[in-house]
Amino acid sequence: MNVPGRRKPIREKQHTIDVGGRSVPLLLRHHPRARRLILKIDAETDGAVVTIPPGTTIADGLEMAKRQSDWIVRQLDGLPRRVPFEDGRRVPFMGQDLLIRHMPASRGTVWIEGDTLCVAGQAEHLARRLTDWMKRRVRQEISAKVEEKAARIQCRAGRISIRDTRTRWGSCTEGGGLSFSWRLVMTPGYVLDYVVAHEVAHLVHMDHGARFWSLVEDLAADMKGAKHWIDGQGATLHRIG
Ligand SMILES: [Zn+2]
Repeated sequence: MNVPGRRKPIREKQHTIDVGGRSVPLLLRHHPRARRLILKIDAETDGAVVTIPPGTTIADGLEMAKRQSDWIVRQLDGLPRRVPFEDGRRVPFMGQDLLIRHMPASRGTVWIEGDTLCVAGQAEHLARRLTDWMKRRVRQEISAKVEEKAARIQCRAGRISIRDTRTRWGSCTEGGGLSFSWRLVMTPGYVLDYVVAHEVAHLVHMDHGARFWSLVEDLAADMKGAKHWIDGQGATLHRIG
């Protein structure tokens, strides 16, 4: 509850900074467990994020970002190019590379023909329609995998949520609810398989200890390959759609 006359502390603040003649969105975010100022690039917004530890101010964070502006520019220039969901673009989908084709005259919503991803309806709704369809497809895929892997270790998962998270591919709550990024639909099958294995293993071990990792390795088709893929390619998925 808010106490009148007392302001809630600011948790985050959106700024823009001018670097190399362009204006870059900068999110300044307090984090109670951060131990130092951390500057990161946000591939989704083409911006930067500064995480601020307790005892340090928004102004300190802003100052740090300004000092590092050359680094920010270099990182932003090095990001993979954006691939919007539109006619003629190629997008990864469950291990395939598909060409998006807008079919304005067709009925139905989204379907696959060979290596073509056909999207019906009006052009201005194409991206939204395709995203919704991908979310439904990934939910089916993930639900089946969760059920299969949880059964292997005699566990039951709670509710499954599909989200658009920026920093995590999956997460698990104490109550056994599992959340996943819809963008997993764009990863190769063994990556989605690993992320599901990881979260299902949390139904048994909430930590990241040795017993947890050994269970993930049992449940996943290719844990090492998937981790390697995520480290190398994971960020590119935030540039698509
Ligand atoms: Zn974990």
